[in-house]
Amino acid sequence: MGRRGPDMIQDTSPIMPPLPADLLARVEKIRQDFMAGLPDRLAQIRQAAEALEGLDGHDATTARADLARHAHSLAGSGATFGLPDLSVAARALEEVIDQMGAVALPVLRAAIDGLERAITGAAPSAPAVNALPIAPALSSEGTYRSVYLMQADGPGAEDLADILAAYGYKLTAFPDGDALTAAVADAAPEAIILDINPHGMIPSATRMTDARGRKIPSLALSSATGFAARLAAARAGCDAYVVKPPDANALVNHLDRLTERDPDQPLRILIVDDDATLGAYYEMALQSAGMQTRLVTDPLQAVEALYDHNADLMVTDLIMPQCTGFELASVLRQYDGLLALPIVFLTADLDTETHRSAVRTGVDAYLTKPVDLGDLAETVRARARRARQLKALMVRDGLTGAYNHPMIQDLLATEVARAQRDGTDLSFAMLDIDHFKKVNDRYGHGAGDRVIKGLSRLLQQRLRRSDMIGRYGGEEFAVLMPQTRPEHAAERLNLLRQQFSEIPYVHGDTQFQVTFSGGVVGLKPGLDAKALNLTADAALYRAKNAGRNRIELG
Ligand code: GH3
Ligand code: MG
Ligand code: MG
Repeated sequence: MGRRGPDMIQDTSPIMPPLPADLLARVEKIRQDFMAGLPDRLAQIRQAAEALEGLDGHDATTARADLARHAHSLAGSGATFGLPDLSVAARALEEVIDQMGAVALPVLRAAIDGLERAITGAAPSAPAVNALPIAPALSSEGTYRSVYLMQADGPGAEDLADILAAYGYKLTAFPDGDALTAAVADAAPEAIILDINPHGMIPSATRMTDARGRKIPSLALSSATGFAARLAAARAGCDAYVVKPPDANALVNHLDRLTERDPDQPLRILIVDDDATLGAYYEMALQSAGMQTRLVTDPLQAVEALYDHNADLMVTDLIMPQCTGFELASVLRQYDGLLALPIVFLTADLDTETHRSAVRTGVDAYLTKPVDLGDLAETVRARARRARQLKALMVRDGLTGAYNHPMIQDLLATEVARAQRDGTDLSFAMLDIDHFKKVNDRYGHGAGDRVIKGLSRLLQQRLRRSDMIGRYGGEEFAVLMPQTRPEHAAERLNLLRQQFSEIPYVHGDTQFQVTFSGGVVGLKPGLDAKALNLTADAALYRAKNAGRNRIELG
């Protein structure tokens, strides 16, 4: 593991030799058997899921536990055998089963469909060398990430290419610097691997840039293990160093890190520091690493800024006049919506007591002053990204228990396909709380969270079991109603709208009421999930413009 914690620095220590060939062959055989058995296992899972519907009480509990075990075992073995997609899909299924009091069949089916896609898409010829339980390296477009290799002596490149292909990298080998330079000018790769002769010069390919002028990350492969060789490579501009023969695990880890693209949405970070200059300094470091920042110099304004900025992570100073960073952290944990927020502390002294307090308040990391800006950016990025990934892996939203955005999108796509195939009705609604900003401003964000939960609870209690409820964003919900005509869906939601508007929320010795608006659409021939989404959104806007507290049919 790294010198400064597991997710800051990748492993650059001497590397284990590759597995012996006979062991590899055995692993490969086991893996092939495992893959061959997947369709049967999938069929079993599907059958067990369908059978669930007829069961109740103890029988249902037992059957569900069985199903969860199947999914759990697939998640584990998928990871072991180098099929991360399968593992992720199986884990999602397991989560669906675990999280549901009573399993709604469409949700279960959607998760099983996901599993099927992962099984069908699994690369059957991939070698099982040091299979890694890591996220797939496939880019978001589902294409391979291109990596160039410069290698003086040919053999070995093919093996390397095979190994990397299993993790979504396409390796192209070049015999010398000229050929590599020409190829880079033509189409820049996402990383360059340089096979370095320990006694020779380090090629200038370590400093190549792509068409947009960004440095292409480079990784040195060398048989030299010593510090001097590593230093020379670092000075020449290499971003990572791997000792030959390369361990697949280490190599892929490095490539994943080096080629990691900025997530679609920049990470959003709140910085809390009473010293505005220092704060601006930290902002600069995080912004130049591609993050969006917001700075508050008064910790009492942190809560509002966190919600407004929809922050993925908070960086806070420890000693501030209004309250300490620890105190701020404790207060944040009182808000349901901020319970899982990662917090990074900046502290001048790291004595045992500080350390203990940090651990007690659920601090995720701390950096000592003077803060190294590189460390800050790396620590923040790693934690914020992990928090994002965890959110995406989970099926349900932490605050309300409704499906989260990616899950309800998946469900929408599945249900649209199903309804089209079976020729059944399907309604889709978008709901948004009216003037919610005012609720937060007047009564605080804790009260705001209660309102969001209240709406979610009402929807869950009053809609049909087969309806699916998702939290789309802050105070916005999506509702999927299979086998429901849009007029009926609108009627039903209109009733809920009225009931919701009558709920009194108590705040101190005052009371307030809140309303929501909604847009409802029905699936028509020729519409797809995206069109349904857009039409519902447009209907919601009409409802807002027409004065709010109403449901519009799209
Ligand atoms: P409109 O009637 O046009 O929908 O107005 P609005 O004020 O409801 O809409 P707007 O989208 O401008 O504001 C939504 C606010 O919700 C902004 C944000 O600060 C707040 N918010 C977002 N997520 C949460 C959350 O999880 N909890 C709380 N308490 N507030 C949130
Ligand atoms: Mg709103
Ligand atoms: Mg809104």
